[in-house]
Amino acid sequence: LDPEASNLTPTDRDIERVLRPQAFEDFTGQEKVMENLKIFVQAAKLRGEALDHVLLHGPPGLGKTTLSHIIANEMATGIKVTSGPVLDKPGDLAGLLTGLDEGDILFIDEIHRLSPLVEEYLYSAMEDFKIDIMLETGPNARSVQISLNPFTLVGATTRSGLLTAPLRARFGINARLAYYDAKLLTTIVLRSSDILKTPISDEGAYEIARRSRGTPRIANALLRRTRDFAQIKGNGNIDTEIARYALNALNVDEHGLDEMDNKILVTIIDKFKGGPVGLKTIATAVGEDEGTIEEVYEPFLIQEGYIMRTSRGREVTEAAYKHLKKNYPGQTGK
Ligand code: ATP
Repeated sequence: LDPEASNLTPTDRDIERVLRPQAFEDFTGQEKVMENLKIFVQAAKLRGEALDHVLLHGPPGLGKTTLSHIIANEMATGIKVTSGPVLDKPGDLAGLLTGLDEGDILFIDEIHRLSPLVEEYLYSAMEDFKIDIMLETGPNARSVQISLNPFTLVGATTRSGLLTAPLRARFGINARLAYYDAKLLTTIVLRSSDILKTPISDEGAYEIARRSRGTPRIANALLRRTRDFAQIKGNGNIDTEIARYALNALNVDEHGLDEMDNKILVTIIDKFKGGPVGLKTIATAVGEDEGTIEEVYEPFLIQEGYIMRTSRGREVTEAAYKHLKKNYPGQTGK
């Protein structure tokens, strides 16, 4: 579930890979998380053990996949990548688990979408590094227990609330990734421009950064598109002017809200008197998937103070009215 990623062309995907930080020192931001992770990695290496299982949660594009690769690089181990919806049967998981070398990382993206059967199968693998495998079927069916090499499960989820308690309890390390501020994103944009050999001014980088919804993946995507505008409409350099021109053309507004963000706010105000209104109703009204609204759009709109989540549904705030230059009706006894 990642609208940005699914829109990527093969070239874009290659560029994403090139821009992906490989080591702790290339990774910008998330200071608290990184400080702890570095210590856990160092300690595990010192003891010659596999790192404890890691759960990474937070909105899409903040660096969960990137971090899992960095952990593997820093631990100098291999990494296998899969995702919750792909692991259909316990057998799929068994195949992956038995193929892991000592200390390897198994990265499961969207881990909240594992089927209950596969999830249960994972418990003993995580806890005792043992799994049961069924031999033969029918009357001769029997299961044998096999030992796995100690490994580290890195699970990523945009919705930690959907994780079952037993699964959550099996992660020794739990890290929440937060949105990045404009300053951190400026550093990321400057680093990416350097890798892409695109000349950019600090102000141009800041302009892209502050309008990237706090998300490195979006910052990098906007940088690539701005680079196109700079090459065709300008002299190849990205300065504030060309950045503004490009971002406006891409329908990213002054506050970094994109078309769907604004559509959600306008819809709640115009069709539902500012709310409260249920998520499902909003989703139908704007023609977007409910899960995408909840995982991608809403967290940012809440963090920026445009939407509130109440027991009766979503309500827009005075800031949303102001942003859209609409008259705030005030507290009308709702
Ligand atoms: P999803 O869950 O949607 O896959 P994600 O959280 O795993 O998202 P990544 O794929 O790791 O996100 O990151 C998206 C892109 O953003 C990467 O290509 C990487 O280049 C860049 N990126 C993410 N975090 C950072 C960071 N802290 N510093 C520099 N670049 C970053």
